[in-house]
Amino acid sequence: MSLAVDQPTRSCATELVCHDCGLRLPLLDTTFKCLGCGQGLDIDYDYELAKTRLAELPTAERAINIWRFEELLPIIDSRAQSRVGINSGRTPLIHADRLGAELGLRKLYLKDDSTQRPSLSYKDRVVSMAVARLLELGKEEIGCVSTGNVGTAVSSLAAKAGVSAYVFYPSNLERGKARACRALGAAVIQLDGNYDQANRACRELALASGVQFANITLRPFYAEGAKTVAYEVVEKLDWRSPDHFVIPAAGGTLSSRVHKGLGELEKVGLAETAATKIHAAQPQGCGPIATAILDGSGEIEPQTPHTVAHSLAIGAPGDGALVVDAVMSRGGSAATATDTEIFEAIDLLGATEGILTEPAGGTTIACTAKLANEGKLGPDDTVVAVISGNGYKTLDEHPDKPWPEMVACEVEAMEKVLTGFRREGAASPLH
Ligand SMILES: *Cc1c(COP(=O)(O)O)cnc(C)c1O
Repeated sequence: MSLAVDQPTRSCATELVCHDCGLRLPLLDTTFKCLGCGQGLDIDYDYELAKTRLAELPTAERAINIWRFEELLPIIDSRAQSRVGINSGRTPLIHADRLGAELGLRKLYLKDDSTQRPSLSYKDRVVSMAVARLLELGKEEIGCVSTGNVGTAVSSLAAKAGVSAYVFYPSNLERGKARACRALGAAVIQLDGNYDQANRACRELALASGVQFANITLRPFYAEGAKTVAYEVVEKLDWRSPDHFVIPAAGGTLSSRVHKGLGELEKVGLAETAATKIHAAQPQGCGPIATAILDGSGEIEPQTPHTVAHSLAIGAPGDGALVVDAVMSRGGSAATATDTEIFEAIDLLGATEGILTEPAGGTTIACTAKLANEGKLGPDDTVVAVISGNGYKTLDEHPDKPWPEMVACEVEAMEKVLTGFRREGAASPLH
């Protein structure tokens, strides 16, 4: 099929290309799996052209949103692009001096996607690409299968773009996120199965119904949004790529596309990124990627997830092999964290940096601590840990500490309680 694009973006995307066998298809083809070998499709760019176009437009004149480096993003129709993600991207990179002091890392930075807009997780980056592509194709309905945050991102971004959203959740969904989808006007369908079962069923539904799914049929475009994390971090560090990224992995899109984004910055001459290592963080109850890296086999064995980190509970990761390659080719590593360690890390991050993250972010911090302990992150290395989601969405999952008794509205009683607190020190994980 072909689309007439009379108002093109600056995108230098050229073709769809197979990760595995290298088969090439036109960018406007709606195939999402390689016709030859069945593997996922990727987007290729004219990097020489991108280098020229990137140099033409100074950074000061660039959009301060997800489209800032649109030369390296896959949307070619500016009318579609202008309707999505205008307030997405560009989250803070925070020097975590207080958390770093606890972990023995002087140059620890947090890429804080817990404040990502509109829906408070990194998924706004990838779903922005999917919805823009949907508009480019002239469609008005979008589906998705979600462990939690894809659903809220699709609901928000579809609402603003004026398209209908259908969100499919597995049976062990986080209720707060499903409620949010409804409040955002999406139809929510709960499926009787885990994420991997729901994912397979949704793929069949997408093919049978013709509805485009953000993270299935639109996947090659969706995945490109995750590269923006690499561009933003390296730009913020004055085009000096960090020594390490620690990235939470579920399906593996974020970690594999940060790898791709770093490689592209090198290709277009914006930064030297070859020395940057990527480390994958996973829960112990669902760590097929970390296991394949740590046992040295590189082979992903699917697992049945049992973890509080619902956002990371993908037992058969679609981009798992790409993450293994990203980590191993850069000399990085991996770590896993138990449920208890995840909640302790959430509290430690909260009490040191004032950032409340969900269990995925707790997994990242717990794994960062382990990697530092093992000497895989040096005390003076520049380390960027990605905080990918917001804890205000998942407080219902947080273990409830015993509540103090009710105190009378009366100064004497209140002073007594306060004196007790001051004697013990605050109930903080730092003491
Ligand atoms: C989806 C998600 C991830 C990881 O996603 P990938 O599938 O590996 O890209 C990490 N954290 C949060 C909060 C998420 O929602």
